[in-house]
Amino acid sequence: MRLYNTLTRREEEFVPQEAGVVRMYACGPTVHDRFTIANARAFLTFDVLRRYLEFKGYKVLYTQNITDIEDRIIKKGEALGSSAQEVAERYTQAFFEDRELLGILPPTYQPRATEMVPKIIEFIQGLLERGFAYVVDGDVYFRVRRFKDYGKLSGKNLEELAAGASGRVEPDPRKEDPLDFALWKVAKPGEPAWDSPWGKGRPGWHIECSVMAQATLGTTLDIHGGGQDLIFPHHENELAQSEALTGRPLARFWVHNGLVMAGGQEMHKSLGNFEYARDVVARHGREAVRLFFLLRHYRKPMDFSHKALAEAQAAVERVYNFLEEIEAQGALAPTRAEPRSPAEQEFSAYLATVRAEFEREMDADLNTAGALGVLFELVRRTNTFMQETAPHDRSLLRRAGELIRELGRPLGLFQEEPKVRAKVTLSGRARIIAGAEEEIIAGNVEELINLLVEVRGELRAKGEFALADRIRARLNELGIELRDKEGGTRWRLRLKGKEQ
Ligand SMILES: [Zn+2]
Repeated sequence: MRLYNTLTRREEEFVPQEAGVVRMYACGPTVHDRFTIANARAFLTFDVLRRYLEFKGYKVLYTQNITDIEDRIIKKGEALGSSAQEVAERYTQAFFEDRELLGILPPTYQPRATEMVPKIIEFIQGLLERGFAYVVDGDVYFRVRRFKDYGKLSGKNLEELAAGASGRVEPDPRKEDPLDFALWKVAKPGEPAWDSPWGKGRPGWHIECSVMAQATLGTTLDIHGGGQDLIFPHHENELAQSEALTGRPLARFWVHNGLVMAGGQEMHKSLGNFEYARDVVARHGREAVRLFFLLRHYRKPMDFSHKALAEAQAAVERVYNFLEEIEAQGALAPTRAEPRSPAEQEFSAYLATVRAEFEREMDADLNTAGALGVLFELVRRTNTFMQETAPHDRSLLRRAGELIRELGRPLGLFQEEPKVRAKVTLSGRARIIAGAEEEIIAGNVEELINLLVEVRGELRAKGEFALADRIRARLNELGIELRDKEGGTRWRLRLKGKEQ
């Protein structure tokens, strides 16, 4: 597989240090609020990279941190009249919930900064001993100019940075150099604080990632990931701290996803042009959100758009309708004795190439858009085969369905059973409204619809068509679509924004 490496500024063949095992780290959330759809893109990118590496047979050891001590958490606590700890706990749980709504798999390790304080102190002491850090009144700073490679990840030059820093902020007379950044911050009264050799204080943001990566995955990572907005200063500082301490590379591949734009600007909480990820999932569905992102290469910037999400939603729906159709047909398949027709042979030969085509796209720097193109082509060709070749060998349809399921897995798409999918949508929505009660109601709604469909069937059997049609029309108004098929009536939820 080839991956673009921010450090070398080119695509390189990815081979992990240890055969068969990938050590990957990606920066996690600061838990002061729910995460936005822009944050979701980063979490999703590394979820798909991880899933795909597993699909290829690697064992993936994946660490993502939780920043549960930071200025914004403390501020939020002050605003809400609760402790920083309560805020962090609440939004850590919210992070887990929203992650699940997006179908993102939990990492192998999920350390929290506050659990790592002793290791952070030890790491800073190591930097002090090596002359890469200094203490001023309880604060500890990293001595940037002492680390000769500073700027190698972001491509920034020290003199430009120094000129920029002096123009932007009043120089702090306590720092040796305006470029130096905090490893440890002395506690202000009332703030959460831990004992350290330099007095009561708390860790800086950059240091926690260096420590957690080392503590869970060892000195050198195969992949370090995050959004492009983290390259400078966060990742540059992580790299400097770790490499200054160990003398070894922090990561072999630095992989960064592009940003999400809204109204011509980067989507950001501070600009107010954001939407929460959970609200977008509630409106368009989990798989539509995943498809929306995966239709664009992960390194390119992308515009957030409800219109594009609605299109993704319709595309997901079309694939499920296709799966429903061919799985129903495939299940009927009789064993055929006669030899395959030329059209069947051709289709069978095509099916045998699909997986390799899919992998070829994914291996090209995780080209998910190209891989989805392979899947959509599979749907198109199977439909054509189904319509133009009759009677046909139904085992070929079954194979096409299996391929969609199999190749959808690394993308986190097309894994639901059609019936279960309706239930997920219902209870997913209910969970967003409130708590357990609504979830029970949502579970019952499905049974109630089944009951109405059954009653309508009995009315039709008795010739009471007027009443049966009224039930169908009312359900349709409520967004529940009935389809009479051989062997019974099926129903499904008509998703918002989709034409009837
Ligand atoms: Zn980080």
